[in-house]
Amino acid sequence: MNLLEEFDTITAIATPLGTGGVGVIRISGDKSFDVIAKIFTKQNLEPGKISHGWITDEGKKIDEVIVLPFKKPHSYTGEDVIEIHCHGGVNVVRNILDITLKNGARMAERGEFTKRAFLNHKLDLSQAEAVADLIHAKTKNFAIQSAKNLSGVLGQKISEIKSKLFEVLSRIVAGIDFPEDVAEPEYSYLLDEFTSAKKEIDKILTCVKTSDVLRQGVKVAIVGKPNVGKSSLFNTFLNMERAIVTDIAGTTRDVIKENLDWDVPITIIDTAGIRGGNEVGKVEEIGIEYSKQSALDADLVLFLFDISSQFEKEDAEIYDLIKDKKHIIVANKCDLGTKASISLPFNINNAIKISTISEFGIEDLKEKIKNTVANFATEETEFITNKRQQECLYRCKESLIRAIEAAELNELQDLISIDVKAALIALDEITGEVITDEILENIFSHFCIGK
Ligand code: GDP
Repeated sequence: MNLLEEFDTITAIATPLGTGGVGVIRISGDKSFDVIAKIFTKQNLEPGKISHGWITDEGKKIDEVIVLPFKKPHSYTGEDVIEIHCHGGVNVVRNILDITLKNGARMAERGEFTKRAFLNHKLDLSQAEAVADLIHAKTKNFAIQSAKNLSGVLGQKISEIKSKLFEVLSRIVAGIDFPEDVAEPEYSYLLDEFTSAKKEIDKILTCVKTSDVLRQGVKVAIVGKPNVGKSSLFNTFLNMERAIVTDIAGTTRDVIKENLDWDVPITIIDTAGIRGGNEVGKVEEIGIEYSKQSALDADLVLFLFDISSQFEKEDAEIYDLIKDKKHIIVANKCDLGTKASISLPFNINNAIKISTISEFGIEDLKEKIKNTVANFATEETEFITNKRQQECLYRCKESLIRAIEAAELNELQDLISIDVKAALIALDEITGEVITDEILENIFSHFCIGK
């Protein structure tokens, strides 16, 4: 739908299709009250008051329902809205949908109800996106955090920053346009304002990590030198033979990922052996680079070593790489006995002893992982952002950095105003004041029909 296109009246099933207590069909648009008048036994519906009666089709009774009418602008979409609450059978709901279609409504597109709410200023874009987050939230915690954005937390913060920057821009422009009457603002004032706006943006950006964890799950990487049992552990966790287990060192070239559902969503990553030295082949080298990157990107690292053989320089190098990250030390192959090692870089009592063959210690390890990642996802975060919003925030920050540098150098204020405008546009995109049809389509196409 084009932004300038007139709003016609749309209809859709708002509840999941299945057998349940209640099914809801929602109609929105100027003709909503006309549509219901043609198909409902009660007439002259009063906005905000529920009515009980029958939906009929050419005189035939279809279902006994409750109808909830809303008059614009006091509705979800900001338009006239009718909700029909019927019995929750797949075919009852479909029949009623068909009847609304026959009587003047058109089938809604994905996310069209929420899109109308946005276009009618009932929600800003960050709130509309929060609706999708809330619906698709895979964990209870993410749902709670998304609800904060639905209540407008992010939008309000952005508006505050915007109004301060707008004030600065107005003063710059007034100084340029009316040099006789208005003095151009002091550079120290500009610097203070830009720096404080950048601080506010940085504050939102500090929540990016937690946002991503909540949205995508916690990334847990298994690292260790070749042959210590990484793929075996990965498979044990997955209970399937996805990675190829082999006793030739260094054959897991790629990074393999799988999702686990352990209360908190977890992405488990099996890395190729991280190893150095000249004997390594080119293909393997690429795999090693990936592994290093995966280890460094991960939220939690499982450092695996073979307790039945000597702890080598290579083990120590890998441990050194990840020791400052959140990690769990895992001593594998304990079914083969323990090789006394005097030079471990950590206290052996801190290691969880396991065997992927006998499955000894696997439950302990799983518990330890679950407890560690549970802390990640319950961490309170002030702001939840998605990739699109983060990209706008980074762009705003870059413009502010340029404005700060320019103000420090006492550059022409005309030039500085360009960066301030760019920062404002980036912020406008977050809440949707400046937005293209294409971006809108992209956002709302991820919704379901009926929302
Ligand atoms: P990766 O290179 O670190 O991924 O190691 P793999 O998972 O491919 O395992 C290397 C070899 O060690 C294979 O022969 C496995 O069967 C063996 N292995 C893995 N875990 C254990 C274990 O707990 N006990 C014993 N005895 N062998 C294991």
